[in-house]
Amino acid sequence: MRAILFEEVGKVRLGDYPEPSVQEPGDAVVRVTTAAICGSDLHVLEGRLPGMRPGSVLGHEYVGEVIATGPDVKKFSPGDRVVGSFPIVCGTCWWCKRGEGTNCDDLRILGYGMFVGDLDGAQAEFVRIPSADHNLHSIDPSLSDEQAIFAGDIMSTGAYIAEKSRIHPGDTVAVIGAGPVGLFATMFALTYQPAAVYVIDLEADRLKIAESLGAIPVDASKTSPTMTLQRATGDRGADVVIECVGFAKTFQTALDTVRAGGTVGVIGVHTDLEMSFPLAEVWRRNVTIVMGGSANVQGMWTKALDSVKKGLIDPTVIISHTMPLEDGVEGYEMFRKHEALKVILKP
Ligand SMILES: [Zn+2]
Ligand SMILES: [Zn+2]
Repeated sequence: MRAILFEEVGKVRLGDYPEPSVQEPGDAVVRVTTAAICGSDLHVLEGRLPGMRPGSVLGHEYVGEVIATGPDVKKFSPGDRVVGSFPIVCGTCWWCKRGEGTNCDDLRILGYGMFVGDLDGAQAEFVRIPSADHNLHSIDPSLSDEQAIFAGDIMSTGAYIAEKSRIHPGDTVAVIGAGPVGLFATMFALTYQPAAVYVIDLEADRLKIAESLGAIPVDASKTSPTMTLQRATGDRGADVVIECVGFAKTFQTALDTVRAGGTVGVIGVHTDLEMSFPLAEVWRRNVTIVMGGSANVQGMWTKALDSVKKGLIDPTVIISHTMPLEDGVEGYEMFRKHEALKVILKP
């Protein structure tokens, strides 16, 4: 089969790869009909997350059709149309049974290297999914691939951090980062009837999309987001700040921008091992910090798909490019250069 393969840090290629088959009783094999390139694929590609085996398949956002199942798979059969989750959970540990898949004892990530399960990814014609009953979700026939695909990752991530950040009606919310996750966090934040959602970024194109969703854009290259939120709230600061970038600097901006007694939700993928933390200041100001970790997709995807079906969320607004899988290397290049917001690949 054809697949996008990790070659070495900084390099992907299109190549042939052995077709997957059922290996364990809980496995399903899915024929991928739509895949996507995710911002976190760049963490692997650019070497911030080590452990990707050279020659293995990248990617963890996909929709497809089940073509084979092992004897333990109860919820799915060949022919079913499914979206897959980027975290591969076991479904049976203490955390999974509590509905906290994000803390699964045996959390693996598709196409993400040997430290998280060494599973081949989904930017390919076929993909093997372990514990399929817990890592696939059926798709309502009324939804297109493009409307469903992000339920397995960025859309559920946005829903998850919006919920975890405890937004109340009338709150002023600031979202730091208008990438795909930031835009989904914005879409879901808006469903909580806030007074306003401010979206902070450096790129005009992304801010334009945020504005089209009903948010107030803040161009951080021109104005201080902290000052903007102070001015908007009678010098208090935002009730809730959702950090969707993943740098110590943007986390610090979140701490500076939240009001005393407010909440900072953190969903950006942080790879710095430590930072200097303003402990006394954060304590004095009574700030609640909610760390998202990798999103609890299994806990959120039904809600996310329902939100699409009801018309509350239109996930397709973030798609900037659709191309054949064969052009996937070019897709990665455009994505890396920030020429594309979201690239869809069609095997
Ligand atoms: Zn992802
Ligand atoms: Zn588990």
